[in-house]
Amino acid sequence: MKEPSIYTIEKSNKTSKSRIHKCCEHRNAKYLCQECGGKGICEHGKYKCYCVECKGSSMCIHKRIEYYCRDCKGNGTCEHSSNKRFCVTCKGSAICKHNRNKYKCKECKEPNIQEKITNTELLLYANILTSLKK
Ligand SMILES: [Zn+2]
Ligand SMILES: [Zn+2]
Ligand SMILES: [Zn+2]
Ligand SMILES: [Zn+2]
Ligand SMILES: [Zn+2]
Repeated sequence: MKEPSIYTIEKSNKTSKSRIHKCCEHRNAKYLCQECGGKGICEHGKYKCYCVECKGSSMCIHKRIEYYCRDCKGNGTCEHSSNKRFCVTCKGSAICKHNRNKYKCKECKEPNIQEKITNTELLLYANILTSLKK
């Protein structure tokens, strides 16, 4: 199964400073910029591949992101959580040594981690989190 594009974005941030995705004037990846009407955005203003109404390619029959769907046993899930990266028990890659979400942990203050996450990626996270809550 293909990983959601956010993983690709993260990896590219770690390896090089020059971003692979073309950025628009709003400092988003143009493909995913709502204001620019990027091709990755559907008529519902969502990321097309994550849009339930558009039957996005990343969505499963449970109207969840398949990668994070426990019923589909998506690769992003574990037995404790629908998102392995944020699973404390599995020590997911997004969990810091304080057993917190390292993107939100104030004690960690991972160097510049906030700066590395651009608007687009934050939006994508928000999008994923909202669809998980449903
Ligand atoms: Zn834009
Ligand atoms: Zn849509
Ligand atoms: Zn499913
Ligand atoms: Zn787990
Ligand atoms: Zn921490």
